[in-house]
Amino acid sequence: MKTTDILAETATASGFADLGLDARLVKRLAALGIETPTPVQAGAIPPMLAGKDVLALAQTGTGKTAAFGLPLIHQLAAARLPAAPRQASALILAPTRELARQILDALTGFSRGTGLGFALVTGGSSINNQIRQLARGADILVATPGRLIDLMERRAVDLSATRHLVLDEADQMLDMGFIHALKRIARTLPRERQTVLFSATMPRLMEAVAAEWLTDPVRVEVTPPGRPISRIAQSVRFLDPAAKLERLIELLAAHRDENALVFTRTKRGAEKIRTALERAGLEAGSIHGNKSQGQRDRALRAFREGRSRVLVATDVAARGIDIPAVRHVYNFDLPNVADNYVHRIGRTARAGASGAAIAFCSAEEMKEFHAIEKLLGTAIPVAEGTPWPGMRSSATKSRRPAGGRGRGAGPRRGQGGRPRRQRSA
Ligand code: AMP
Repeated sequence: MKTTDILAETATASGFADLGLDARLVKRLAALGIETPTPVQAGAIPPMLAGKDVLALAQTGTGKTAAFGLPLIHQLAAARLPAAPRQASALILAPTRELARQILDALTGFSRGTGLGFALVTGGSSINNQIRQLARGADILVATPGRLIDLMERRAVDLSATRHLVLDEADQMLDMGFIHALKRIARTLPRERQTVLFSATMPRLMEAVAAEWLTDPVRVEVTPPGRPISRIAQSVRFLDPAAKLERLIELLAAHRDENALVFTRTKRGAEKIRTALERAGLEAGSIHGNKSQGQRDRALRAFREGRSRVLVATDVAARGIDIPAVRHVYNFDLPNVADNYVHRIGRTARAGASGAAIAFCSAEEMKEFHAIEKLLGTAIPVAEGTPWPGMRSSATKSRRPAGGRGRGAGPRRGQGGRPRRQRSA
């Protein structure tokens, strides 16, 4: 199945019952306002119910959690085989604590009334509580790889009866260096099992993992990278690095009532921006690798509840997190992996809403900028300044700026330099 758009935009005609899901589950979904399957759900649910392996290319916001969660719940509820102590019938692995918690919350909501039991295993919270939870056994265990290995080493969990394995945001798990942890975990599961892999991108290493772990998988693909959602108004502002912060504050202040996500490359950069925004009177939170779990949770909650309108984030910290109703995505720094641009801007224009994605590009970032335009296959409209000279791509050659040149903007000779290297997020 190939579809090119998300959620409400290309909702399929048939309902969840037509996909083969249990009537009670369908009713429960309707009570949650979920009635029409999204493309990834329509593609993944039937083969998963048939016990097949699935390889799905889908980003956050496509309804992917329900796409793997609903068939799992259906199968486990139908089997009526409660997990034995320390065992788990299904294991869902996710790269970050936030995503694991989000999956657990979504699946708990979907499965109300089925009697299924869940366990959550992530770093940053008490391992003893997790040992106690696992002692009872779990129908569905949601975990981050590092903490799960800790618990395996303590013999607090036994995966020898786990018949379903889901890898969510698998590309990010590989990016974060979890490949050995994943291999170790997978070795302890029975060979006879259903394996499902969800990933936003398909790097070469993933092809190898998929070939090794999946048997004759059904491929489901939605929103291929490089095909951004049409309702996002993209623009680029060519700015001096020193002018970026001031411009960000001006733009945010002009839309005080609307949510905005600001992406930076580094943890330090994220914190510097957050502090500057607070100083300028803009309530802002941040999520990145230097923040404790409690701080990240509080920042996300404040943002979700509208108490803070701006969230400053690094790619790794933000990936996979469902942040609703974002109107503006600012690329304060351009990502040096072009795919990440598509992931970042996909945070706006969710579920029928429209949104804006604003990129700030300094002379040093022209290489990244060209890579992004090449991936998109189109030129991003210019809202300020002109492309910095040097390394011009065909997409930008004949363009003229839509607006005038702003303060701090404009071409500078001799600065079309090298991209900065990405630091950890
Ligand atoms: P996800 O891609 O799993 O992070 O889901 C994104 C959001 O879409 C979540 O808030 C879900 O509750 C919501 N959602 C998932 N499936 C549907 C659906 N079929 N119809 C409407 N909303 C949905």
